[in-house]
Amino acid sequence: MFRPSAQRLRGLQLLSCGLRDSPGRPRWVSRREGEENPPLPTETKWKDRAETVIIGGGCVGVSLAYHLAKAGMKDVVLLEKSELTAGSTWHAAGLTTYFHPGINLKKIHYDSIKLYETLEEETGQAVGFHQPGSIRIATTPVRVDEFKYQMTRTGWHATEQYIIEPEKIQEMFPLLNMNKVLAGLYNPGDGHIDPYSLTMALAAGARKYGALLKYPAPVTSLTSRSDGTWDVETPQGSLRANRIVNAAGFWAREVGQMIGLEHPLIPVQHQYVVTSSIPEVKALKRELPVLRDLEGSYYLRQERDGLLFGPYESQEKMKVQDSWVTSGVPPGFGKELFESDLDRIMEHVEAAMEMVPVLKTADIINVVNGPITYSPDILPMVGPHQGVRNYWVAIGFGYGIIHAGGVGKYLSDWILHGEPPFDLIELDPNRYGKWTTTQYTEAKARESYGFNNIVGYPKEERFAGRPTQRVSGLYKTLESKCSMGFHAGWEQPHWFYKPDQDNQYRPSFRRTNWFEPVGCEYKQVMQRVGVIDLSPFGKFNIKGQDSIRLLDHLFANVIPKVGFTNISHMLTPKGRVYAELTVSHQSPGEFLLITGSGSELHDLRWIEEAAVKGGYDVEIKNITDELGVLGVAGPRARKVLQKLTPEDLSEDAFKFLQTKTLKVSNIPVTAIRISYTGELGWELYHRREDSAALYDAIMNAGQEEGIDNFGTYAMNALRLEKAFRAWGSEMNCDTNPLEAGLEYFVKLNKPADFIGKQALKQIKAKGLKRRLVCLTLATDDVDPEGNESIWYHGKVVGNTTSGSYSYSIQKSLAFAYVPIELSEVGQEVEVELLGKNYPAVIIQEPLVLTEPTRNRLQKKR
Ligand SMILES: Cc1cc2nc3c(=O)[nH]c(=O)nc-3n(C[C@H](O)[C@H](O)[C@H](O)COP(=O)(O)OP(=O)(O)OC[C@H]3O[C@@H](n4cnc5c(N)ncnc54)[C@H](O)[C@@H]3O)c2cc1C
Repeated sequence: MFRPSAQRLRGLQLLSCGLRDSPGRPRWVSRREGEENPPLPTETKWKDRAETVIIGGGCVGVSLAYHLAKAGMKDVVLLEKSELTAGSTWHAAGLTTYFHPGINLKKIHYDSIKLYETLEEETGQAVGFHQPGSIRIATTPVRVDEFKYQMTRTGWHATEQYIIEPEKIQEMFPLLNMNKVLAGLYNPGDGHIDPYSLTMALAAGARKYGALLKYPAPVTSLTSRSDGTWDVETPQGSLRANRIVNAAGFWAREVGQMIGLEHPLIPVQHQYVVTSSIPEVKALKRELPVLRDLEGSYYLRQERDGLLFGPYESQEKMKVQDSWVTSGVPPGFGKELFESDLDRIMEHVEAAMEMVPVLKTADIINVVNGPITYSPDILPMVGPHQGVRNYWVAIGFGYGIIHAGGVGKYLSDWILHGEPPFDLIELDPNRYGKWTTTQYTEAKARESYGFNNIVGYPKEERFAGRPTQRVSGLYKTLESKCSMGFHAGWEQPHWFYKPDQDNQYRPSFRRTNWFEPVGCEYKQVMQRVGVIDLSPFGKFNIKGQDSIRLLDHLFANVIPKVGFTNISHMLTPKGRVYAELTVSHQSPGEFLLITGSGSELHDLRWIEEAAVKGGYDVEIKNITDELGVLGVAGPRARKVLQKLTPEDLSEDAFKFLQTKTLKVSNIPVTAIRISYTGELGWELYHRREDSAALYDAIMNAGQEEGIDNFGTYAMNALRLEKAFRAWGSEMNCDTNPLEAGLEYFVKLNKPADFIGKQALKQIKAKGLKRRLVCLTLATDDVDPEGNESIWYHGKVVGNTTSGSYSYSIQKSLAFAYVPIELSEVGQEVEVELLGKNYPAVIIQEPLVLTEPTRNRLQKKR
């Protein structure tokens, strides 16, 4: 029997704080025979000045030092408080995988593995990298669907990934009980690495390229100076840095506190166990692939002639180390372990024994229970931090071993070139804000840990920690009427319940219970009038004598005239799309800037940085939390609103893209005639505390017109039919505005030398290689979501960016990037959805004309 017997554990000491000491590197973690890395000597040198100071010598900090120094940065200094790897890195199981359910992180995994494959040769330090491949096991039909969903999202990436049949799985993993196995998702090249040796090899490389790695050198205080530099204090001396990077692992919160920030991080306990030699394992001719039993929620890999098994407990059972958040990490804690608790993982042990029966006769020789830092969504926080100049973070790594190599490269490229090398918005540290309380962080960390292996559906919602304090003024009014989505702390209606319909949250890879209600909301807006809560928008007020100059420098579009609004893009120096905002010129030199909820602090940081760099005399205020926003859209929108205001809302008096301050039902609003639905509509910006009264007044006034609510799912269907691009999907740091079809908004001939202008001119002169197109396709019961593979003549040639069912033509509709030679209207391609390639055709966009265009054409007739 798989005996978790205390006597069989190696004699690890108990610390008085209830933590176990692990003074020696756990030798049983894979390292090939003879692969001993001598400890690296500590530096005796000191520097007074540094270009970049990295705080923390775990795998992440050291990888960044390696990449910066290798790329040629002089004066890279890494300060480590005790010794390299003396944090989570010390304990990690070292699993490495190409698999990631998201999109951009696949690139990070890829870059890490490619680096780890060559590091030993480059640095002369062994890294103990094993690549037997890995198999994720499906034992339910919905898992098989998930694998198919993941295959189409991987097809256009460099990563190799296959769905394999049970026979193949059995051949690769002969010790598996195949009773319940339906399929496997196989990634060749996956495996595990020795985290200690990896870090030491990166350190050797960093030193070789000129970085100074200094330890022990605990950073005790950080002071920002008016010129943007930092004074960094350690007991060994102080130094001045042009930029600092917090890479302090589970101490990152404490480093943040030195400068008044509360990073939303929390340590959780993670256990894995190692068995003694198992005869059946010993008899194998080749190393077993790493196994991930998703229903059993554990990973399992070969460790010498035994097995290493690591479970993820449910959110109820897992343990958050919350005392470290309230009282800090106990002094002296570094390589120590928590007390093991095998009862907590028994149900996973049983599942593993059923799946891999040889475990029943194995002995446990070691249990590791170490701290992993969790952010609320378990993704790390990587990049510059809004509100603090030249402060960068690389923190919150739940899977830092597989992320370290790629993130080090990504961050080093960003630091050196002034823009991210590719889109990785999901790691933006600025996705969190003041609303991310400790209570929220803990609830989310529990959920994220417990959900490590749950099925990842499209349009997934997670409910722990909600609502936050950041709800809109309409939350109470709408909460029981709709299915809410979570957007940067806000709750926003996704779709509204209809009488006698299933109101539950039922995510699916296929059309599900919200398909019909969303269709009703679509019709509501196209035929009558609908109201939507848009309060989560990010909102900034910009004024001051240089405001126009600043915005002219930041935006590729012209500055709108006073009283008007336009859509403008901030580009990167390389001419890619950093952000899309709605710019309203409210009074001479005073602007209201609106952005999506997901990009509030991301955009604000960029604007603030440009203002400081250029020395512009402006005042920038984030007014996101002060204002609520209601959208009113549909052919009867004017009729309804006109009942509530003396302001003339007629076509001639209040034109498309005009903005005015007025009163609606006596409530002061800034009204912009714009709607992301493409229908006649206004967005009404008002004090957040007035939201409910404004909403009630509009709903009452619109009874005769048949007014009703609509949510963001219907809005998505409406905007896709109008061919409106969405930031983050059709445009991001991976795309330039020309290939995204945004020429109309980019004024290359405007006098101002806006950021990205020169690069864009060159892109234009060279010609485009790919283009965004609109596709329609007839499917069975599934619609494109975005990130699916596009096929042509048996090859993947592109990817969708977003998609929906089109309620007007009753087919699926998607945006996709395809090679320029396949981008003509009428071109036929295929879109892969759930394992099937559906014929698709490129259409003339938009599928449905916007209301202003329809109006204009009607007048001409
Ligand atoms: C049991 C267990 C199993 C795991 N298994 C895996 C796995 O299989 N695959 C995987 O990808 N990940 C795994 N992880 C997660 C992985 O270990 C971490 O994500 C990763 O090590 C984090 O690295 P880091 O460099 O961010 O932090 P750390 O390794 O914690 O390093 C932070 C460093 O900062 C230093 N520091 C802190 N404060 C200061 C200061 N004020 N001044 C100077 N220095 C400071 C610390 O001394 C420490 O050395 C596992 C973790 C555990 C505990």
